[in-house]
Amino acid sequence: MMRLPRFRYLAPTTTQEVAEVLASEGPDAMVVAGGTDLLPNMKRRQQTPKTVVGLKGVAALRESQNGTGLRLGAGLTLTEIGEDPRVREHYGALHQAAVQVASPHLRNMATLGGNICLDTRCNYYDQNYEWRKSINFCMKKEGETCWVAPASKRCLAVSSTDTAPALIALGAKVHLLAARESRELSLEELYNNDGISYLTRRPHELLTRVELPDATGWKSTYWKLRRRGSFDFPVLGVAAAVKFDAGGGVADARIVLGAVASSPIVVSEAAEMLVGKELTDGVIEEAAEKAGRKAKPMDNTDFVLHWRKRVAQSFVGYALRELRGDDMSETRWNTAKIRFGD
Ligand SMILES: Cc1cc2nc3c(=O)[nH]c(=O)nc-3n(C[C@H](O)[C@H](O)[C@H](O)COP(=O)(O)OP(=O)(O)OC[C@H]3O[C@@H](n4cnc5c(N)ncnc54)[C@H](O)[C@@H]3O)c2cc1C
Ligand code: SF4
Repeated sequence: MMRLPRFRYLAPTTTQEVAEVLASEGPDAMVVAGGTDLLPNMKRRQQTPKTVVGLKGVAALRESQNGTGLRLGAGLTLTEIGEDPRVREHYGALHQAAVQVASPHLRNMATLGGNICLDTRCNYYDQNYEWRKSINFCMKKEGETCWVAPASKRCLAVSSTDTAPALIALGAKVHLLAARESRELSLEELYNNDGISYLTRRPHELLTRVELPDATGWKSTYWKLRRRGSFDFPVLGVAAAVKFDAGGGVADARIVLGAVASSPIVVSEAAEMLVGKELTDGVIEEAAEKAGRKAKPMDNTDFVLHWRKRVAQSFVGYALRELRGDDMSETRWNTAKIRFGD
């Protein structure tokens, strides 16, 4: 049985208190929300904070609010996000991403903030301490070599959050609270394409909320590839959002790929070529091909690498056809059962 290492536990009740604690404790402290990522990581000694700051007692993190768009507290659980009628109706990509994370039990604990800040994953890293020690560890923790790409100076562990690609496609911003200087940035800016330093969030900053813009005129969707349809991390995520003009043409679009790099990948070229056009089969095919070219999965998660790259193109096509209004329910069902390519 894997046990947690020793740590000091603090349970503040306001966001300001959390920010003060993080400022005084420095990088030795980490916050825990649902704990579904951090606690297993601590058991495997991948993350070993001396102080753990619990967020469950911070009521302000669980608030949501309507305005011109929608404000979602970082402490809302993924079950709450998935069941929120405002999310379901106006921010389809986020609804679909949230309801496909892990399993119902995990979603009851897991929070939006924790999902956004989820550690990157890799077959050589997501192992217990003894396993990692037997290969002399790796660059991400305690070692020097990257076993996926030994010549690489950068860790290539994979961004595996489902909600981040969806939120980026929806134009989300995040608020980072600090004891002295708080800031707001687009969610895209929160990520670095680096498996170790995957967030631009500083250790003393608390992610308090997500701001979604007004979704009038927009339709969005999220497609996820994983081995088990019941629950599994994504090995590919495709989020797409399209704003239609009065004539049915595309006024604006965003396409984001997840789980193909150490950060979500915004494929602007593919989205921009849709603007001013109708989503015909030919236009969709061209955009999907462009987007697929940006998918550069590494051989450190599930399924065969080259097949995953090909599937990225297909999934972008499925997402755009769904946004056009095609009935894609059968394809969705079939992709949840994919067993080939491994
Ligand atoms: C079996 C299993 C299957 C899973 N499947 C999936 C999946 O399919 N898709 C997926 O996306 N994830 C999956 N996960 C990972 C995880 O359950 C989710 O990502 C979950 O949303 C994490 O949220 P949490 O609140 O539990 O995070 P925690 O474990 O509490 O925290 C995760 C990280 O975020 C930081 N953090 C948390 N809240 C904040 C905040 N407000 N401000 C700053 N930093 C913060 C923590 O310090 C920690 O580094 C799975 C996990 C397990 C165990
Ligand atoms: S990509 Fe390389 S350095 Fe990063 S976790 Fe995997 S083996 Fe370690």
